[in-house]
Amino acid sequence: MILNEHSLHDRIRRGEEVFWLNEQYNARQESGVRTEFSLEQIDDASRRLERFAPVITHYFPETIASGGIIESPLTEIAAMKKKLCHDAGMEIPGRLFLKQDSHLAVSGSVKARGGIYEVLKHTEDLALEHGLLSSYGDDYRKLTTEDARRLFSKYKIQVGSTGNLGLSIGIMSAALGYEAIIHMSVDARQWKKDLLRERGASVIEYEGDYEEAVKKGRSASEADPFSYFVDDENSRELFCGYAVAGRRLKAQLDDQNIPVDGEHPLIVMIPCGVGGAPGGITYGLKQCFGEHVHVFFAEPTQAPCMLIGLETGKYGEVAVQDFGLSGRTEADGLAVGRCSTLVARNIHALLSGEGTVRDERLEPFMRDLWQTEKIYIEPSACAAFMPLIQLYSTDTGRQYLRNQGIESVLGQATSIIWATGGSMVPEQEKLVVI
Ligand SMILES: *Cc1c(COP(=O)(O)O)cnc(C)c1O
Repeated sequence: MILNEHSLHDRIRRGEEVFWLNEQYNARQESGVRTEFSLEQIDDASRRLERFAPVITHYFPETIASGGIIESPLTEIAAMKKKLCHDAGMEIPGRLFLKQDSHLAVSGSVKARGGIYEVLKHTEDLALEHGLLSSYGDDYRKLTTEDARRLFSKYKIQVGSTGNLGLSIGIMSAALGYEAIIHMSVDARQWKKDLLRERGASVIEYEGDYEEAVKKGRSASEADPFSYFVDDENSRELFCGYAVAGRRLKAQLDDQNIPVDGEHPLIVMIPCGVGGAPGGITYGLKQCFGEHVHVFFAEPTQAPCMLIGLETGKYGEVAVQDFGLSGRTEADGLAVGRCSTLVARNIHALLSGEGTVRDERLEPFMRDLWQTEKIYIEPSACAAFMPLIQLYSTDTGRQYLRNQGIESVLGQATSIIWATGGSMVPEQEKLVVI
């Protein structure tokens, strides 16, 4: 055991790809699995998003067709599955789908879930406090009036980000009339900064990494009573917004007549940065599917902050730099050195495991998906293909399938790659790789 642990740490330190099983995983969530979130909180978040639907359609007419609900397609990618199996010389049993959060309206990434939700929650609080809304039953279109915009313009919303969270917070805040200030880390792509400025947000750039951008943003905001800070490392609102994805996915699977039960396992692969998005989604999925859903995260070999946080039990107290890793990666959305302690502690019993991926693999995944399915997703999103391959091609992966007793039903399994971003990437940038 100790030998294994040492060899795992050594391999992480050497920047090798690993497939890790979470020893704390408690499939049935019995005895002692307690989280700081409740079903009621996620219900509440879901209803809040419905209340805001008229506001969303007002500012983002592309959401009229979905009634102001921002949701992404679930698309089968059989040709990509064939390509992956061929190249890796392996079988991926069952059907393979892509959850296209890459194509979510408004900001083109998974951050359109949590980020937008938190801005709306704050807006509702302000509106009730200032009498713009009298109750949850009021007409939310009042929030788009000149009076409302005048009120919001006195307030700032700030966030520290590697890019996509900044995009979702910045675009939504600016649309509602707030002054949006986005603190960007060195990894953030230029086009994301340009797009934000175009939408009326202020972008402050730092030489340092994501952790520094968050720290600077937090202290700038704390000094200002008219400023609200979206704290990616500690936000309960973000987590709840992401968790709504669970019930939305369940409805989509029901619509496509795809069962999830003891005979039909659901296997989900999600890229992880600080942990909020994949953690919230995992929480929401576990609420809907319990032991029948198996969730694995994907992180870059140079920034496996959630893996080391969970494996050592130190959560956000340990950084990838403590393992001699750089924290730098082409997967800009995953360039995070320290995971969220709030998230890590709440998913420690829910997560099945994780796979890490070297940067060199991201472009080929991206190109393959484009060539087989004509779908473009950004580098961070491509990381999710790795744990899928590892689950079926490594001894550790096979051990998991055996231990869970699902080996014999894998032919009826549904696997989902959670594509976390990509549709807003400018054409010129896409062309470089596809
Ligand atoms: C933010 C992001 C992630 C990970 O989300 P976290 O909440 O940081 O863990 C994954 N992929 C993309 C494209 C992202 O922007």
